[in-house]
Amino acid sequence: MKNWSGTVTFADSQTFAPATTAELAQIVATNPKVRARGSAHCFNAMADTDAISVTFENLPQDLVINKEKQIVTVSAGIKYGELAVALEKRGWALHNMASLPHISVAGAIATATHGSGVGNGNLATAVRGLEIVLPDGSIKKITLESPEFAGYLVGLGVAGIVIKVDLAIEPTFNIEQTVYRGMSRETYAANLDEIMSLAYSVSYFTTWAAAGGGEVWAKFRSGSVAPETLFEAYPATSNRHPLPGLDPEPCTEQLAVSGPWHLRLPHFKMEFTPSAGDEIQSEFFVDRKDAPAAIAALEKIAPQISEILWVTEIRAIAADELWMSPHYQRDCIGIHFTWKKVDAVYEFVKVVEAVLAPFNYRPHMGKVYSASPEYIRSVMPKMSEFVRLVKEIDPMNKFGNAMTDNLLGR
Ligand SMILES: Cc1cc2nc3c(=O)[nH]c(=O)nc-3n(C[C@H](O)[C@H](O)[C@H](O)COP(=O)(O)OP(=O)(O)OC[C@H]3O[C@@H](n4cnc5c(N)ncnc54)[C@H](O)[C@@H]3O)c2cc1C
Repeated sequence: MKNWSGTVTFADSQTFAPATTAELAQIVATNPKVRARGSAHCFNAMADTDAISVTFENLPQDLVINKEKQIVTVSAGIKYGELAVALEKRGWALHNMASLPHISVAGAIATATHGSGVGNGNLATAVRGLEIVLPDGSIKKITLESPEFAGYLVGLGVAGIVIKVDLAIEPTFNIEQTVYRGMSRETYAANLDEIMSLAYSVSYFTTWAAAGGGEVWAKFRSGSVAPETLFEAYPATSNRHPLPGLDPEPCTEQLAVSGPWHLRLPHFKMEFTPSAGDEIQSEFFVDRKDAPAAIAALEKIAPQISEILWVTEIRAIAADELWMSPHYQRDCIGIHFTWKKVDAVYEFVKVVEAVLAPFNYRPHMGKVYSASPEYIRSVMPKMSEFVRLVKEIDPMNKFGNAMTDNLLGR
């Protein structure tokens, strides 16, 4: 089996898809190494193992809403697209979604997956509780009141195997999506704060080409008014795909047509292949105040970026308190690269990282990066505490894989 992009061949000795929590607990208790896997959308070996993997699609897909507390409790393996439909039917919404709805809730929060919006934290910030299986097969509930709650959430698969997740919900809302075309990187970078604050969720797309403008995808909550122009950019008159030249059919509705949050916040519809398909992704987060300088620095390698790139997306993510979140105590701008699926990407990522190192970038843990564990420790102030917590949860390192062992020094 391979990951979604086909770039990682999983080395599992066996894969189990338990149908009950008791079965899952027994697999965990009776095997020396077990790795949880979601929908396998990571671009690196984060979900890989050379031992036993467990998947969650056969576990009961429970969904319980607590209206007073505005919390939904879901099974770990549910996909955001499925959850969103169920919530919308009952008049509820999540605060945000990633660019695609195809990913599992537990897999997404394990890597701090995010959407955009200066006021929107990543998807793990909506977590209000977790039910996890410990290495001995016992089950533990982690709540907001639990000590070190913030350490468990972005768990990289090593802070217990998550079986249920409590997520904050809010009354449903509508979004109107407008794509503004023809915005140069110069104008975008010079007015970054204003542009990123324009709507509930804003993305800027560029190919780093010298000529031709980029696009601003602005997702307004219904009731707010979209400007007729945005600096030199003008509203598109037909639906767009973020990757230049591709058919927009897989993309969510645009042209300011109002519709439910879950059919506008992701760029891609559940029933289609998202993005290019034939791709590799990387993403690096810098402090929002450093983003214009970081973009200017990348300008120097723009021609080389362009050569192997489908598209770059730039998004905003609000600061949080989650230990292994790349947005920890930092209002971030995520500079994302959808690369073509070529080997050159793995070497070139090092060049991008060298350019962004003066800005103390933090990498997306589910995408391709080359930074050393020492570098990551230097920019993630809570990493040592995370390592200590993980050793307490899992002293024999049952849940780790080669990637987390290298990262966490186990
Ligand atoms: C086309 C595409 C678009 C993307 N867009 C975005 C985006 O907009 N924003 C963004 O931030 N990322 C994005 N990503 C990256 C993606 O969201 C992350 O890699 C995410 O972690 C994938 O979730 P998954 O369910 O596929 O998890 P997997 O890749 O299967 O696993 C990820 C991690 O979660 C752990 N895990 C899974 N289930 C459990 C569990 N039950 N208990 C404990 N640990 C578990 C695994 O061990 C692993 O460490 C995109 C990826 C693709 C392919």
